[in-house]
Amino acid sequence: MELAIWPLRYRRVTLTLKFLLYLLSTDASVPTAAFTSILSLAKAGHPCWYTDLKHALAALPVPVALDHRVAPTIEGVNLLLAAVRSSLLRHLQVAITSRDKLEFWRATVFPSVGGASASLDDILTIRPYYRNSSVEQARHIVRVLTSATPFAIEILRYQNVPRSHRVCRFCRKRLCLETEAHLLLHCTHPILVAARTAAYRALLDSVPSRATLQARLSPERFFGRMLLDTLGDAAGTVATWIECVFERCKDVGVLTFESDESFLSLPEC
Ligand SMILES: [Zn+2]
Repeated sequence: MELAIWPLRYRRVTLTLKFLLYLLSTDASVPTAAFTSILSLAKAGHPCWYTDLKHALAALPVPVALDHRVAPTIEGVNLLLAAVRSSLLRHLQVAITSRDKLEFWRATVFPSVGGASASLDDILTIRPYYRNSSVEQARHIVRVLTSATPFAIEILRYQNVPRSHRVCRFCRKRLCLETEAHLLLHCTHPILVAARTAAYRALLDSVPSRATLQARLSPERFFGRMLLDTLGDAAGTVATWIECVFERCKDVGVLTFESDESFLSLPEC
């Protein structure tokens, strides 16, 4: 999504449909004769290039129907291309709303690009935090947005630790899960508050009118807006903030519990 790259199966089927448009519009005798032969095979129920296209469309995550017994038209193929775009949009919407690893992206960037009413072009685009930051900075941002972090919510997933037990290593409160949102935006431990305060100060000092935006939006929405902000070096500032939190996590080991009793002994919040 973040690099405006279509999934391979959607790219392949779209290219095939565009080739079909070419076959329907060309006057060249050889491809026209070959295509006529293929349509005859398909109409008779024999496997061929056109029936393969039907199966490829039906196998998309959100299937698209093609009747191989009916001769295609330019108008019909254009409708199929539109249906493939709709299929991809629906597929992405389901992925965005259902995957745990996109929870932070969903809370920060997604509302700023249109949320549930976002179009395919809104979702599949190269965003400012790629264009306006270095490779290293972009890597930090993407790691946070896709939950590829050294945070407990991610690394303890691979140790089969229940989600409710992936507690913040800094504030050590039972109800404070060590998520991207918690460490970056909500944790009250002085180390993380200092990193957050420095980032907010840099963002507001470079563009003072952002203070109004910050007062109006939730921390998650403001974070997302800063990633998409093209003024100054907003994305670079956010990347530095993320890197700082990553570094602080190296200094403090992740919190684990030997028993439910030790977990329950923590203060709630
Ligand atoms: Zn915390």
